[in-house]
Amino acid sequence: MGKNEILKLKALSDITSIDIILKFEEVLRNILKITCETLKGCSGTMMLVDEVTGELKMVAAFGLPDDYIERVYKAAKIAGVPLTYSPSGTVLETGKYYLVPDVFKDIKMEPWWQLAQEAGYASQIFTPMKHGNNIIGLLNVYWEKPKQFTDEEVSFISVVASHSSSVVQNAKMCERLKGNIHELNEYKKLETKLKESEEKYRDLFDNAKDPMYTIDIYGYYQSINDAGLQIIGATREEIIGSHMSSLLTPESYTIALEILKKQISCLPYEQPIRLEIICKNGEHRWGDFTTRIMRDGDKIIGIHGIARDITEKKKLEDQLKEYHEKLKKSYEELKESEKLKKEFISNITHELLTPLTSIKGYSELLYNDAIDTTSYKQKKSLEVILRNSDRLISRIKDLLDVAALEKDEIHFNPCSVSINEIIFESVQDLKPIFQNKEIEVVSDSVISSSISGDKEKLNQVITNILSNAIKFTPNGGKITITAGENEDEVKISINDTGIGIPQDKLESIFNRFYQVDGSSSRKYGGFGLGLYICKTIIEKHDGLIWAESNGNGSTFNIVLPKITSKQKGGTECSIRLLN
Ligand code: ADP
Repeated sequence: MGKNEILKLKALSDITSIDIILKFEEVLRNILKITCETLKGCSGTMMLVDEVTGELKMVAAFGLPDDYIERVYKAAKIAGVPLTYSPSGTVLETGKYYLVPDVFKDIKMEPWWQLAQEAGYASQIFTPMKHGNNIIGLLNVYWEKPKQFTDEEVSFISVVASHSSSVVQNAKMCERLKGNIHELNEYKKLETKLKESEEKYRDLFDNAKDPMYTIDIYGYYQSINDAGLQIIGATREEIIGSHMSSLLTPESYTIALEILKKQISCLPYEQPIRLEIICKNGEHRWGDFTTRIMRDGDKIIGIHGIARDITEKKKLEDQLKEYHEKLKKSYEELKESEKLKKEFISNITHELLTPLTSIKGYSELLYNDAIDTTSYKQKKSLEVILRNSDRLISRIKDLLDVAALEKDEIHFNPCSVSINEIIFESVQDLKPIFQNKEIEVVSDSVISSSISGDKEKLNQVITNILSNAIKFTPNGGKITITAGENEDEVKISINDTGIGIPQDKLESIFNRFYQVDGSSSRKYGGFGLGLYICKTIIEKHDGLIWAESNGNGSTFNIVLPKITSKQKGGTECSIRLLN
């Protein structure tokens, strides 16, 4: 046996003993390496037929640039031909080897001429790799220079190709097996994870504070945790296999069934679902249920639910609802009675005021005309009639003012008002009353300028506060009126030595119908409306009014701007009071 023969035999033995556990690409490259070295070729490639698509693909290269395979395809693409346009196509068709003694003279190699030049080969042999009758791929060896092939070389490469095909098939199988083992390992890992998460879920399910359960698609309980059993007051055996209808009121069962149908049909529904359950001892409890469907693959196999016991919350909600209803009703009633009161006030006051004014008029006439003719007793009686008429008229006017205030009907006419003047006039008007009670009234006003306001209304305010001071000051007391000004405002204070006002009532006295001591109203008279009217009038003048009391009488303070904001903004002369 010659040296050549020995080398070829060694090559064949090397190929068959390639370790197929190696990476598939490495197995292919080793085959190419051994073949090329034995045949003294400079490089080589291997092509394999894809088992799925039947397409021939170049899968390995030896002795060629790293991007060689990529460039083979690129060159074919530029030429607009498939890979099988090359001699490889002929090999596939005929099942026989194909010799290319000079690459640059074989027209089938034209698309790859430039590449061959760059990669440094000039002759090739394409050999089919057969497995049984099937061609599984091609083993191709390249030489640097053009070359005539000997029969010996051709038969050797054919033998190498057939040996290689077995090695490649085995390597493929090994690769698949490795894949399967990997998959198996992954599957095992997944299985362990699944087991772990199942255990975690079990743990969660069993120890959850909220009731948890599963039902099948027909509504039969499949599982329930301890929290659920505790609320229902039943054993697991009693619940598993029972139908959800047995634990729900008919109304709640209808709702639950409706939701179950929607869930199974994958229709939208709102969560949580509020249901009333019947416990084993007959007690009814309320729960907010949150549910989701359980699937096995695509199939819906049941519903998983979590409930929150909201019985106490629901009770409170119901109570609140009841209170709300009651409150609403009372409010409606109040509104109705307010309306009636307003109507009553405006009707009655008109009914009273008109006849009273006429009584007062005729009494005055009688008093003036018959001054000489009437007896002393009759004169005194007429004085009483006149005094009481005045009181009544003043009260009715208060009522009318409040009614008008509430109906938004009081107008005021701003003009230049002298504070000194209104203080003086009010004192003059009330002189007979305070003299009668021997009350000393001291007025100390140092205001020289006028303010803008409604004279009649401001007069009403000062008179009201002065009358109160007289009313609540015992005989022989003292009332001091002080008034001062700065650039923008005037301040009036009316102080008395009367009964005083408790600290906690200093604000309430400005409320409608408020009197510090309602029971004493008979003693002092009045409706508790005066200060409310005063406050409204002062506020409509952009002013402030407040009371002070130190247990030694009371002081009422008023601050008024010299020009109201309305006047600053325009020249309006008659504005509604409550707008
Ligand atoms: P009334 O017509 O009852 O006087 P007002 O609204 O004018 O109504 O006053 C409300 C209440 O404020 C009075 O009933 C009284 O309790 C208290 N009050 C007002 N002025 C004085 C004052 N100068 N001294 C003590 N209490 C007063």
